[in-house]
Amino acid sequence: MKNNVLLFTPGPLTTSRTTKEAMLSDVGSRDYLFIETVKNIRNGLLELAGVSKEQGYESVIIQGSGTFAVESVLSSVIPEGGQLLVLVNGAYGERMTQIATIHKIKTHVLRFPENEIVNAELVHHYLTDHPEITHVGIIHCETTTGIMNPVAEIGAICEATGKIYIVDAMSSFGGVEMNAKDMRIDFLLSSSNKCIEGVPGFAFVICKSNHLHSSKGNARTLTLDLYAQWEGLDKNGQFRFTPPTLAIMAFQQALNELKVEGGIKARNARYRVNKELLDHGMIQLGFKHYLSPDLQGPIITSFLYPTSPSFDFEKFYALLNDRGLVIYPGKLSKEKAFRIGHIGQIFPNDIQRLLDSVKEVKEMMGF
Ligand SMILES: *Cc1c(COP(=O)(O)O)cnc(C)c1O
Repeated sequence: MKNNVLLFTPGPLTTSRTTKEAMLSDVGSRDYLFIETVKNIRNGLLELAGVSKEQGYESVIIQGSGTFAVESVLSSVIPEGGQLLVLVNGAYGERMTQIATIHKIKTHVLRFPENEIVNAELVHHYLTDHPEITHVGIIHCETTTGIMNPVAEIGAICEATGKIYIVDAMSSFGGVEMNAKDMRIDFLLSSSNKCIEGVPGFAFVICKSNHLHSSKGNARTLTLDLYAQWEGLDKNGQFRFTPPTLAIMAFQQALNELKVEGGIKARNARYRVNKELLDHGMIQLGFKHYLSPDLQGPIITSFLYPTSPSFDFEKFYALLNDRGLVIYPGKLSKEKAFRIGHIGQIFPNDIQRLLDSVKEVKEMMGF
């Protein structure tokens, strides 16, 4: 069975048939096979982040979408009286701020334009001027535009100034090589349906065990209590509440397939080939990038709306959708742009199929 629908989105993504097939058998949450799979996944995640338990890292799986992990970490690890600095250059940074505010966490925000990376020098100054800040949050690939923030550089600043560092690597982890230790990341967050190419259902956190342990008792919610979740998983491999059993089984298959592909390095290379092909084709069709090319990562690309009055995004989207090709609207605060993801089970021939259809739709619409 070939995929008839291709998702050129930032998640959920196009998944392999075999990953979907891993969900065809029911599995109980106390089943030996299930518990073993959870254990394998938790170890596999540490491995993908280049760290181990021996080095003092843990991984925790949390039911729900990616945002649940962001909310879990912010509401569980920042103690009462702690202060958070959020580095924002897009919608996901804003979301982090919104979550912290809801939990009444004292939050500082440094905002940067959506077409610029977070400026490390300004962050350094701000942290030096505000010793009361205890935690720093940043987005690795800000999916609003696809821009890649300098996570390692900011990590070194956090280490030097003694801040706990929280990185939303939701859309990059699995598609971009990352080493949590080298990048000085204390809490790294991602989810099942992004670059590992699993199906939606859970998020995960890779974290320094000392910081996880010292967060015990800080949680502001029951369901998103990161420490309690870890404790349950560590004690008997079980979730505190109904786990996304089939999404877990699919994820194990997706991890196996990532290994077969050649790991994150090979996956990153495939995504880059996809992106180059897309860039070349879209430019030939007259589209323009929103970001300067050196800032655009291999995950998703933003294109400005064509200026022609015959362009109408809703119509453009619908016509591509009719052809089984799902693109993504923009999320910019000022400019009009749309996005095309090049992650998931997408290969060069799929990009070509998309480009052929964009050309056809462009001619139909007359822009
Ligand atoms: C996808 C994504 C999230 C999580 O979104 P959900 O809809 O909750 O899965 C968070 N941050 C970034 C940068 C993302 O790309």
